[in-house]
Amino acid sequence: MIVDVEATRSIRQAEVGSTRTMLDRVKARFDLHPERLIADTVYGTGPMLGWLVDRKIAPHIPVFDKSGRSDGTWTRADFEWDAENDQYICSEGHTLKQFRRNYSDPNRGPSGKGTARYRALKEVCQACPSKARCCPNAEARKITREEHEDAQQVARDLAKTKQYDISMKLRKKVEMLFAHLKRILGLGRLRLRGPCGANDEFLVAATAQNLRKLAKIFPAPQQTRKA
Ligand code: SF4
Repeated sequence: MIVDVEATRSIRQAEVGSTRTMLDRVKARFDLHPERLIADTVYGTGPMLGWLVDRKIAPHIPVFDKSGRSDGTWTRADFEWDAENDQYICSEGHTLKQFRRNYSDPNRGPSGKGTARYRALKEVCQACPSKARCCPNAEARKITREEHEDAQQVARDLAKTKQYDISMKLRKKVEMLFAHLKRILGLGRLRLRGPCGANDEFLVAATAQNLRKLAKIFPAPQQTRKA
């Protein structure tokens, strides 16, 4: 069943923002709190995943990750994350750190916000036998870590579960409903103007979709003919 509708312009940030609006609204209106959210990669950004994980909603969403490399060199996933010591460890067993000294001023230390940069020591990388596969064009290897990397890792771990496979099949079913809205209920083109007009049309279409579903779940009783 469709429990909420929010019309947005077709830009990624607006669409992702509307998801937060709808999740907050169904919680306030119907006290509905989903265990998981199933969506496509557009919704798999760090801030969105962090927002979901903070609210204990399991993100069954492919991670929107741009850390991959096209030149065949090692990616961030090839480095081990050591959360306790706030560092990465490379395959040669060396550490990549944000800071290599203790600052007396806490404002100069790790903030946990934004993008953190971890660096290996130049002299270590220069003498490393794996340098060609790790950082052939740099003096030393650097890795960036997004603020919401922990939440991204939660999503990556969930993507290996059986429940995630089921979720992806369910997502296809929802997309078929969207296709039905477009092709059969004529939502491919809006007739009313402006965001309010779009919202009204979406609401009516969602109501029609729900009525169709209800009619399937509770078919009308057969009328018996009088002799
Ligand atoms: S080049 Fe540096 S970071 Fe990369 S594997 Fe060698 S020592 Fe580790």
